Amino acid sequence: MSTQKIQTEARKFALQNAIFFNGKANEKAVAGKVIAALKKDGVTPAEIIPVVAKVVTQVNSISAHNQLTELTSLAPELLQREKKARDFSLPPLPFAEKGKVVTRFPPEPNGYLHIGHAKAAIIDYEYARIYDGKFILRFDDTNPENAHLEFYDAQKEDLRWLGVEWDSEYHTSDHLETHYKLAEQLIKQGDAYLCKCTSEAIKEGRFNAKTCSCREDRTGEAALDLWKDMLASPEVSGILRLHGEMGSDNTAMRDPTLFRVIEAEHPLTGDKYHVWPTYDFAGAVEDSISGVTHPFRTKEYELRDPVYFRILSLLNLRAPHLMEFSRLSIEGMPVSKRKIKPLIEQGLVTGFDDVRLPTLRGLKRRGIVPEAIKQFVLQQGFSKVESVVDFSLVESVNRKFLDSRVKRYYFVPNPVQLSVDGAPKKTAKLSLHPDATMGERTIHTGSTFFVPKEDAQKMKAGDVFRLKGLYNVRITKTGDTLTGTYAGDELIPETAKIQWTTDDHIPLKIIVPGLIFKGETFNPDSLHELQGYAEKAVSGITVGEIVQFERVGFVRLEKQKKDLVGIFTHK
Ligand code: ATP
Ligand code: MG
Repeated sequence: MSTQKIQTEARKFALQNAIFFNGKANEKAVAGKVIAALKKDGVTPAEIIPVVAKVVTQVNSISAHNQLTELTSLAPELLQREKKARDFSLPPLPFAEKGKVVTRFPPEPNGYLHIGHAKAAIIDYEYARIYDGKFILRFDDTNPENAHLEFYDAQKEDLRWLGVEWDSEYHTSDHLETHYKLAEQLIKQGDAYLCKCTSEAIKEGRFNAKTCSCREDRTGEAALDLWKDMLASPEVSGILRLHGEMGSDNTAMRDPTLFRVIEAEHPLTGDKYHVWPTYDFAGAVEDSISGVTHPFRTKEYELRDPVYFRILSLLNLRAPHLMEFSRLSIEGMPVSKRKIKPLIEQGLVTGFDDVRLPTLRGLKRRGIVPEAIKQFVLQQGFSKVESVVDFSLVESVNRKFLDSRVKRYYFVPNPVQLSVDGAPKKTAKLSLHPDATMGERTIHTGSTFFVPKEDAQKMKAGDVFRLKGLYNVRITKTGDTLTGTYAGDELIPETAKIQWTTDDHIPLKIIVPGLIFKGETFNPDSLHELQGYAEKAVSGITVGEIVQFERVGFVRLEKQKKDLVGIFTHK
């Protein structure tokens, strides 16, 4: 083997490695690949390693752009293969180093997670994984009025269902003493003051870009005493405000609130604290002190970015690479706890797991699988462009997952009876899926069947159709019930194939969720029911299983009171 050949191999793999790792190829990684590739030619590692060392140095000295151009012409398949193996469509992170990326997902424990949270959590988690980094679950529980114990566990349970795993977890409320110390530091520096104005006056001041007298009077030492009084007793009113820029065009910078008194009992700290940091303060401080390198938040916070960086800079704390992505919105669905809560409180939905809701629990009940949510989120990607997507996008991804893995059965909506003259007694063995390894079910047939009304209505005397998987029938009489005669077993091209049940069936109700909002208003017509007969085998299906009812759609089965009920997933 010529050195030339080794060099060519080394060059390809060095370029590939460099492109995927920030422009710098790793000698060991490249050597490993070259050794594996040339093993069959009998080349030894001793011959390869020195060549790789030289090539890696050369490759690392050329620009990322040139690396890419060269590999594109030399071995474009190496660009492809790497991408496929990663199954990952998020763009590379700026300033990201392998092993050093730390991300976090910071839900407020004030409700159940929805598909918008899934977007955030999956992006956070995936980036940590891609960069061999760390992913933190942080409960942003600094509003005791909203935080409830049940939600901490429920949110974790839902994340696990999604397949998101975290390396560590904590509550922002664990760090309140630290927050108080940092607040004190700001006060002492003259960077924060205690404001005693009414909330109306504060609002008005912000609107008119006018400072209040508190900014002068209650700053430095004067503020410190008051701050301590405030911490000691909830009777002392006031808020701590950042000495920001009242003249700024960005209203977020007009002396934002850092701490306020909230007297409610906190689910974890009880009545120990009553002075609570705002999102601006707690978010910035926590991201920094917990070592997060790449915090993401939704675009609506963009205006608050200067507040985030100002707080950290005044406290002399490390500033992470804050990044934004667009909020996920779905047409006709409330992808926000704020919009979901009133629906529950007004009794318009049955609860957090109502099948019309985009909560993870609602989606799960409906038969949307976590893999589909993940793929949908990654497909949507990272764009900052605000857009409202159609739920059919989630459905089409979900369909791909279900199609290959769920069993198929017959369900006859709005059944119409069919009597077949001369019907042969049969023992039909019908496969549960085109993939034969999934097995079959056996149905004994006589002369009575049920077929869907929708099909029955189209039939005329003389028409021939096929009872799917069984035999052909020629219609002799139509009306409230149908009569027909046996018309042979052979498949006749172009004949309608219709699903059926015998008189050995189970009645089944299928709940069909629709869009819960029409524009901005609740759609009272958002839930439908489909009544029908399912073949007997369906009664033996495990509750929670998703099946495909042929020619109807995918349905998840659950128990409601004592009855088996189907939830319509999608076509
Ligand atoms: P909600 O209106 O649902 O309460 P929120 O942003 O107040 O939304 P949090 O529990 O504070 O809810 O959010 C935790 C994380 O999830 C945040 O980083 C937030 O940006 C993100 N997130 C929430 N809703 C969406 C959404 N619709 N699309 C993308 N990310 C979201
Ligand atoms: Mg929130």
